[in-house]
Amino acid sequence: MTAIALRKIRKTYGSLDVIHEVDIDIRSGEFLVLVGPSGCGKSTLLRMIAGLEEISGGVLDIGGKVVNALPPSDRDIAMVFQDYALYPHMSVRENMAFGLKMRGTSEDAINKRVSGAADILKIANFLDRRPAQLSGGQRQRVAMGRAIVREPSAFLFDEPLSNLDAALRVEMRLEIAKLHNRMKATTVYVTHDQVEAMTLADRIVVLNAGRIEQIGPPLELYHRPESLFVARFIGSPT
Ligand code: ADP
Ligand code: MG
Repeated sequence: MTAIALRKIRKTYGSLDVIHEVDIDIRSGEFLVLVGPSGCGKSTLLRMIAGLEEISGGVLDIGGKVVNALPPSDRDIAMVFQDYALYPHMSVRENMAFGLKMRGTSEDAINKRVSGAADILKIANFLDRRPAQLSGGQRQRVAMGRAIVREPSAFLFDEPLSNLDAALRVEMRLEIAKLHNRMKATTVYVTHDQVEAMTLADRIVVLNAGRIEQIGPPLELYHRPESLFVARFIGSPT
């Protein structure tokens, strides 16, 4: 079943074509990884799905509903950013609860969801700290916790691990894989790390200058790249 459908999605900034008629059927529960060189349009595509960037053309369908004109809060998806985007003046608990409060979720439900997510992400001991009192890895967990408590039908990640050191990156990658196996939520994950792409993805989309170069399961791209571009991209270590 299709959870998110992109139909001839385009993005232009003035006369600059950034995304050219991209078509993707993202399956329900699928872990889809977007890769491609810097500037190829990965973040732009993700931000259009999230509703943070206006769509210049085409149709975006989430859960059977055209959402082109809907604000982020009405799209039933949560995005996790590379720079965490936590509120510095709020505690971890407040950071995680904020979005739910704004939506009018009851205090009981908020507390339950925050505790549940904190347990899953192993941040239950830090709920009263400020972001500045946390390590990079812990901040990233909080950012994920804030997405999880919304209980969205889909998660969007934009290079969530790229600010972490190598050891933490491995740890968090395994954590994200575990989380996905547990929640089975539709996920679109942007990375420029081949190992992340190969190990996390059900399917990988290789973007090249705003166009899909190839889309398929990791091993298919690895063994049967359809272009030199894909071969270089999937084959070469970062
Ligand atoms: P990626 O995430 O793959 O590195 P981006 O989606 O951030 O790439 O950017 C794709 C292209 O769109 C780049 O050429 C970038 O310079 C351009 N771009 C992104 N945001 C804007 C903007 N607000 N105005 C003009 N050009 C932009
Ligand atoms: Mg980007």
